[in-house]
Amino acid sequence: MKAAVFRGVNQPLTIEDVDIDNPKGREVLVRTVASGVCHSDLHFVEGLWPFMPPAILGHEAAGIVEEVGDRVTAVKPGDHVISCLSVFCGDCAQCLTGHPNRCLSGGMPRGAGEPPRLTQNGSPINQFANLSAYAEKMLVHENALVRIRDDMPLDRAALIGCGVLTGVGAALRTARVEPGSTVAVFGAGGVGLSAIQGARIAGARMIIAVDVVESKLATARELGATHIVDASSGDPVMKIREMTNGGVDYSFEAIGLKITGEQAFDCLGTGGTATLIGMVPLGQKLELDARHLLFGERKMQGSVMGSNRFRVDMPQYIDFYMQGRLKLDEMITRKGRLEDVNEAFRAMKAGEVARTVLMLD
Ligand code: ZN
Ligand code: ZN
Repeated sequence: MKAAVFRGVNQPLTIEDVDIDNPKGREVLVRTVASGVCHSDLHFVEGLWPFMPPAILGHEAAGIVEEVGDRVTAVKPGDHVISCLSVFCGDCAQCLTGHPNRCLSGGMPRGAGEPPRLTQNGSPINQFANLSAYAEKMLVHENALVRIRDDMPLDRAALIGCGVLTGVGAALRTARVEPGSTVAVFGAGGVGLSAIQGARIAGARMIIAVDVVESKLATARELGATHIVDASSGDPVMKIREMTNGGVDYSFEAIGLKITGEQAFDCLGTGGTATLIGMVPLGQKLELDARHLLFGERKMQGSVMGSNRFRVDMPQYIDFYMQGRLKLDEMITRKGRLEDVNEAFRAMKAGEVARTVLMLD
């Protein structure tokens, strides 16, 4: 099959022929139909987070089940599915206490004695996030998949696989935004726009989008932001504190920078909660003024993949889309083929797109 292979830090992905094994036991072979280009992949390409090449990146996909292992019960050939990197075991303490997104199993990879899922001329190719979605096919554990309704377009379904699940989930599941509250979202890319939509769906009264790119702020307005702050012209914390008369109830950091992580905390009002979603480069620390944690009872928390229970959440988010409450069409800025993945990274880095979706069918 054709796949985009990561050969080393700061090198373009190369389109190569890769072999994929047959599904065994609880594994499923999925024909990838659409694969979103998420910013997290770029973090690995740029070496801000480590991953061992050669590997196939990509982790935001939807497709159709082609073949299943003999112990699979969740899906069958022909089912439309979304994949999720929150592969859960169902047996560990986190799974059993309702937090499958924090599963301790390590994503249910194949065992050390088993042949690798992906190879090229007999040598292993590393599977990224237990998915590897920049490829014509994916071989995954059945607990990496949820079956979805057939009338959901797969290009839009792909976005729910990571960015939408992460952003909407951060607002609805992690922070549990209350109706009538005030919200600030730092970063209006795919995840930030999704957090804005989560806040809108939750009934927030004031949703402030913060970014430095005018076109992204315009999209943010379209998707539910009631106010915008252009952080390229002055301190966004001061502006937010002014606009809200003392700070927001909830803030979300959806970029992955030390400065915006700290700003997300600084713009909170008394009793406010900041939720960190972005991938701050490995090893970097945030500095917070501790007195606000104590006397203002502010909170700083993280959200991984929108605190999802994705088999429950993704079908709900699809219903929101079908009802017009979750807007996905507006988030797909561009479409491309697998060969366009490097251009998609460039455009994302330049702030030109919320999302490029690569079509593989
Ligand atoms: Zn992602
Ligand atoms: Zn588990």
